Amino acid sequence: MEPILQVRDLRTSFLTSNGEVQAVRGVSFDVEKGKTLGIVGESGSGKSVTSLSILKLLGSTGRITSGSIRLGGEELTRKSRREMRAIRGGRIAMIFQDPMTSLNPLIPMGDQVGEMLWAHRKDMTKAQRREKVLELFRTVRIPEPEKRFKSYPHEFSGGMRQRVMIAMALACRPELLIADEPTTALDVSIQDQILKLMRALQKEMDMSIMFITHDLGVVAELCDRVAVMYGGLLMEEADIVDIFERPMHPYTMGLMASIPDMHQDKRKKLQPIPGSPPDMIHPPKGCPFAPRCPYAMRICAEELPPYVATGERRRSMCWLLDPEAPAQGNPFKQGKEAAV
Ligand code: SF4
Repeated sequence: MEPILQVRDLRTSFLTSNGEVQAVRGVSFDVEKGKTLGIVGESGSGKSVTSLSILKLLGSTGRITSGSIRLGGEELTRKSRREMRAIRGGRIAMIFQDPMTSLNPLIPMGDQVGEMLWAHRKDMTKAQRREKVLELFRTVRIPEPEKRFKSYPHEFSGGMRQRVMIAMALACRPELLIADEPTTALDVSIQDQILKLMRALQKEMDMSIMFITHDLGVVAELCDRVAVMYGGLLMEEADIVDIFERPMHPYTMGLMASIPDMHQDKRKKLQPIPGSPPDMIHPPKGCPFAPRCPYAMRICAEELPPYVATGERRRSMCWLLDPEAPAQGNPFKQGKEAAV
């Protein structure tokens, strides 16, 4: 089956007074129909810029310099602003980290969701829109939807506001939902409820989701596949079970070592990844993770590693996987993981 979204060699830059920030430097991935792809990475890895490129929401300084983005086989990079306005909210919907920044504090919640329908479903009457909003409120499990229709954003809790954002995103039954850190601002129990809701809705609606996060724990809860980004590049891509069973990139191993584990020995400290992300105005010519990688070799700083297939549906970008890489101290040639 053809994937709902195909991104190929996407490159996106921003012009700043200090120079051109090469935020995304050639990423390729698919989002399969009815499945969830998690895009993981720390701040500045390029994960959010990738999602904003798909929606062509790059502001006046950003531009896609090359590559292809196909939604249901249709090329998006060549679409006009007007065409993209119809696609955003219609075929692709997005939810963000902080619902308060996306909601108008002066407009009742029901009317805000109704506006989304008004923008994309001109055929609906006012009464039909109201009925549809109430149905969406019920879908996202908002209690007493009739009463809540006229409530304002400040009368909702953070979790309830995020449910309204999900209702708004689902209003036009999008083919693809892009969720950018939608649970980061919520406390852990509410985060769990929202993730469970998203999982249930995905099943009910057979929706495809691209889930952007810095949190591998959240990815484990929700995603079918994971793409790990660093320095504007995709470092590793694999099915969720495979990546957790055996990460095949030192950066992914570092991310795993920094996840708290309830069952681990309390005296064992979490391992942060020392160092900071690369300067994206002058990105390194070799592997961007080299200055922070405990396995870095001379070639790592000199040449960008190629992708190596590490399984049937997985690949990684690391010189350690090269057939000529030394076996000594190499976590991938010893057939076992090594802690970073
Ligand atoms: Fe580390 Fe080199 Fe692999 Fe980059 S290519 S992750 S620096 S070993």
